[in-house]
Amino acid sequence: MIEQLLKYQEVDAGLRKIETELSGSEARKKAVSAKKFLESVDDTVAKLDVKAAELAHIYDNLKKESEVLSGQREEFTGALEHAVDENGLNYLAKKADELYAKIKNLSQEAGKVAEAMQAVYKEYAGVRNNIKVAQTQYAENAKIYNDLKASKQDERSKIESELKELEKTVDAGLMERYKAKRANKIFPIVYEINTVGKSHFCGYCNMELPMTVKPKLNNGEVIECDNCGKLLFLKK
Ligand SMILES: [Zn+2]
Repeated sequence: MIEQLLKYQEVDAGLRKIETELSGSEARKKAVSAKKFLESVDDTVAKLDVKAAELAHIYDNLKKESEVLSGQREEFTGALEHAVDENGLNYLAKKADELYAKIKNLSQEAGKVAEAMQAVYKEYAGVRNNIKVAQTQYAENAKIYNDLKASKQDERSKIESELKELEKTVDAGLMERYKAKRANKIFPIVYEINTVGKSHFCGYCNMELPMTVKPKLNNGEVIECDNCGKLLFLKK
């Protein structure tokens, strides 16, 4: 029963080769990375939105505060014109100067916030540009990949129908075990056991098999390597 499975695996190798070629193709890699970027970019844009809103809020507050202080300063400078004694004049002039200094500070702060806003807008523009690049990269490479896939379709169908025929000759339980491993992208799956003296070793990872499997092996059963998970058989 192992011969049929080995034959199946031999034909299956052709299918595996096509799959590896497709999944390892440059076009697929490029399309996948572009898609990943496009999927993650919403997050980036959302973060920029929050940042921009925060900065706009800070900027507005600074502007309002500055307007209030300017109003107060105007009152003081207006009063200056009507001040009579020197003490009063000095007091008002001092107040007006203090307010002027505060307004100047606020204006500098607002300038910094405006710069930060500019930086955010620049980032927006950069992201928009990257989106365009990624969209183009995705579209181009998805097409190349699909063309490549289509070019392999005939060969693939031929192998698949051959496998379907071969499958009828393989023990159903064994086939199921094989297919489960195949689905986990393990390949090749079936290996012959190496025998040295009385000891048996996995034909793939070379781990020594426990004595307890001996009766099974002598019975012609297919066992699984505890270490690498390959299906193992003992050649009679
Ligand atoms: Zn092994």
